[in-house]
Amino acid sequence: MANRRLTRREAIQSGAGAIVGAAAVLAGAEVSRVSAQGGAVVATPPPARDPRFPLPPSWNRELRQLAPNVYAYSQGGGPDMSGPGVSNAGLIVGADYSLAIDAMQGPLPAKAFIAAARQTTGKEIARLVNTHHHGDHVNGNQFFTRAEISSHPYCREEVLKAVANTPKTWAPTPGVVEAAEPRVLVPPTVTFKDDVTYYIGGNEVQLRFAGPAHTWGDVMAYLPKQKILFAGDVAFFWVAPYANNSYISKWIETCDKIAGWDVDVIVPGHGPIGGKKELAEMANYFRVLGVEARRRYDAKMTPGAAAAEIRLGRFDNWIGPERLIMDVVRWYEEWDGTLLPDYNANAVREATIEYNAIKAGAKKTGQIIPLDRMVALAVPC
Ligand SMILES: [Zn+2]
Repeated sequence: MANRRLTRREAIQSGAGAIVGAAAVLAGAEVSRVSAQGGAVVATPPPARDPRFPLPPSWNRELRQLAPNVYAYSQGGGPDMSGPGVSNAGLIVGADYSLAIDAMQGPLPAKAFIAAARQTTGKEIARLVNTHHHGDHVNGNQFFTRAEISSHPYCREEVLKAVANTPKTWAPTPGVVEAAEPRVLVPPTVTFKDDVTYYIGGNEVQLRFAGPAHTWGDVMAYLPKQKILFAGDVAFFWVAPYANNSYISKWIETCDKIAGWDVDVIVPGHGPIGGKKELAEMANYFRVLGVEARRRYDAKMTPGAAAAEIRLGRFDNWIGPERLIMDVVRWYEEWDGTLLPDYNANAVREATIEYNAIKAGAKKTGQIIPLDRMVALAVPC
């Protein structure tokens, strides 16, 4: 087992096969298949929880009115949810049409959202904003057939890159796809680099560029009159944040900036609706992890060994705790000066293999993370 930390370049050159033979099954085609728009998230036995701290709450899939003509479509979840990759959406209703924020991950949630929106408001969705390029926010674009779709240019570029590798058929997946049906990844057709404001039905909707944070192309929707923020994946509440395409220190800065805004309600990309307190907690996840990881980085530990050792207290109980590994890798890349917008699949895989080897050596096999689960983590949120 490699104890010396590899630079990103070395890791890419050596590949995970140099670490453990089992990695060979994931080499080549498997890695090239890895994209931001992959399939469903599968269940995994999570690393241990910390009994001293509370578990996440449970919440419902519902179209909830937050203010006149303003709705959040939250996906259901709770402490035992198997797929943290289900994402929330938003809806702003005008006199003639509605604007939707995010398209979700597949036919079932997208169609349910569109039907609920139509039934509740009587309006068609004529505009759709993609907060960023991850599949669980853009894969449902094809179902918003009457909507003009807009995003940051980086989001559009990433979606365009993923079009060729998108399967032609939706494969049945619990909660996402009921039966096979034609699939097409529809890219945004309007882009904006900075901020754009819509005035819809008496609501001022400011689309604000927030990146780089969760990705290099994050957009949030801020309604100053109602003090509501649809944060996209700049906010994860009770769900471990996914950082494979992130610039973590700048993400923390964005959270700190939002703390100074006039906001009462924050709709996160993942997790139950909350506010500034919950957003500060997510930033704290990264801060606590940053302190723990930095100590081990300075001691020249590898990211996998660091992740196997780190305990995060209350954050260990969040949904998707295995994301600790990718988040450590991402911190390391920032400190190494090797951070890129793209997901470093090799580094995350290598760290996962080492993490598992350490857990197995310590006979903590219940904390082993299946490698296919970490490959599935290329299915982002
Ligand atoms: Zn995301």
